[in-house]
Formats: sequence, structure tokens, C-alpha cells
Amino acid sequence: MDQNEPKQLAIVSGKGGTGKTTIAAAFASLAKNKVMVDCDVDAADLHLLLQPKIVTQDKYFGGRSPHVDLDLCTQCGLCTKVCRFNAIDNGVVDPVSCEGCGFCFHICPESAITMEEAFSGDWYISDTSYGPFIHARLGIGEENSGKLVTVVRKKAVEIAKEKNLGLILIDGPPGIGCPVTASLTGVNLILAVTEPTLSGIHDLERILKLTEHFKIPSMVCINKFDINLENSQQIISYCDKNGSKLVGRIPYEPKVVEALVNRKTVMDHPCNEVQGIVQKMWEEVESVLRQKA
Ligand code: SF4
Ligand code: SF4
Repeated sequence: MDQNEPKQLAIVSGKGGTGKTTIAAAFASLAKNKVMVDCDVDAADLHLLLQPKIVTQDKYFGGRSPHVDLDLCTQCGLCTKVCRFNAIDNGVVDPVSCEGCGFCFHICPESAITMEEAFSGDWYISDTSYGPFIHARLGIGEENSGKLVTVVRKKAVEIAKEKNLGLILIDGPPGIGCPVTASLTGVNLILAVTEPTLSGIHDLERILKLTEHFKIPSMVCINKFDINLENSQQIISYCDKNGSKLVGRIPYEPKVVEALVNRKTVMDHPCNEVQGIVQKMWEEVESVLRQKA
């Protein structure tokens, strides 16, 4: 890897609600010289804590949808017959049901249908008191979030290079689907945030298998580790066995919720015990990132 390339850290979780964004926001407060990216474009919420001031806003055209020239359409009904999604009726398209497969375009005997790029969402470059922040909002009902993730990540790399910032801090989408894959490719290190519940363990295993597949080193943080010590121990054993370093154990602390309600990162709200743990976690993550070529 080019030494001048910014290092990329992705904070991920097997499912939503594990505290991933809380950690991402806390790291945003601790890390220096970085660009932050919210890749959870389906349910973006890092902006709630970073309180960005939007500098530029762009439209994202992710999919394609049919446009029908009704002057050419003879209402032959062929498109209605072939569409598996019941999304077109004699040349009249239902954009919510349309999956953009293009079958109608190919089948129309009058060449009345063209496939046009469809608006899928907005993406933003913002200023925050923690540094530049790239985020996005996928349009309602849109599903091309993997592509939108790629757009915001590319922008983040551009800005990091332009401003000579050495780190890209990614708040990844939950799960293991296409947007997660788009968030992970090319990152230097992954921090997986989990909770000691049975579903948390299962989801962690899935996300670590994915990181293994991509050969990306991973670290693990157990959030609210003290709500079930037995399950926490199981996670620790799993990490030992699979070569993922356990980097932090955060206890359940109502002040963390209080910070979120006040739209503050845990580092900017009185929350001493958790702050100390997160600070140590960041130092360890940063030192591993520094070693990455
Ligand atoms: S297949 Fe073409 S011509 Fe026939 S109804 Fe559909 S758009 Fe009109
Ligand atoms: S693009 Fe596909 S889903 Fe959309 S209307 Fe045409 S055939 Fe139906």
C-alpha cells in the first residue's frame, strides 16, 4: 500500500443497536487529522452526535428506471405481461414497485422505453468541530446502498489526500450485506462492536468470518459486557481462538445514554469510567493502525 494513502478504520457490528455509532463518535472526538464517514446510509445517525454544518450537497443516481415515451406506446400490454414485479401497466410505471431490471425496455416492440438513471439519495460534505464528515441519505425505498457507500468512501479518500489527513474513520452499516462489503473493502483495520447476548455472539461470528474472508485484521469491543458475564467470556474465548484482539470491555452505564440523548459523544459528556476505557481502546487501535503498511 502507498505510504501516502490514508489509513482506514471501519467500526462495524453484526447488527444495529450495539453501540457502534457511540464508539465511532467517541473516536471522532479522540482521533486527530481524520475524515469521518457514515457508511450506514440506510439509517444514518452519526450526524446526530457530530452535529455537522453541511458545506456541499450532491445528488446520487444509483439505479436505473424505465421512462416511457407515451407518443410511441401503442398500449400493446406486453410490458405489463412480462414485468415480474407488477410495476408497469401499459407503459405507466409504478416507481415504487419497479426493480430496474430493464426487461420491459428490451421487450417493447415500439422501442418506447428507455432506461434512465434514477435519483437514489443525497450525499453531503460537512464541517464538524471534529473535522470533515462525509455522510449520505438514501432515498425512501432505495436499495443501492452499497454503491452509495462506495461514493462516500471515495469522496473521503479524496478529501483526506487533499487536506493531508492520515485517517479515515468509518462508521459502517450493521449486518453483513452488500453495504457492509462496500464499507470493508480496502480498510486497514476493523473494530467490531458487540454485546454479550446470544444474538450478539452469533452476529459477531458472522462479521468476523467476513473480515477473515477479506483478510482484514480485526479487533473486538464488548459493549455492556457486565450485563452477561458468561456470554462475555464466550466472546473472549471466541476472539482468542480466532486471532481477533479484544480491545475493550465497556460496562453498562446510564450516562452513555444520557450523552446520546444530549447529542454528545461520550467523550464530551461527564462519563469518566467509560471515557477512560474508550481512551485506552483508541490508543491501542491507533497504535495498531500506525503499524499498518
Ligand atoms: S410494451 Fe411498449 S408499446 Fe407495449 S404497452 Fe408497454 S410501453 Fe407500450
Ligand atoms: S424495469 Fe423491470 S421491474 Fe421495472 S417496470 Fe420494467 S420490467 Fe418491471
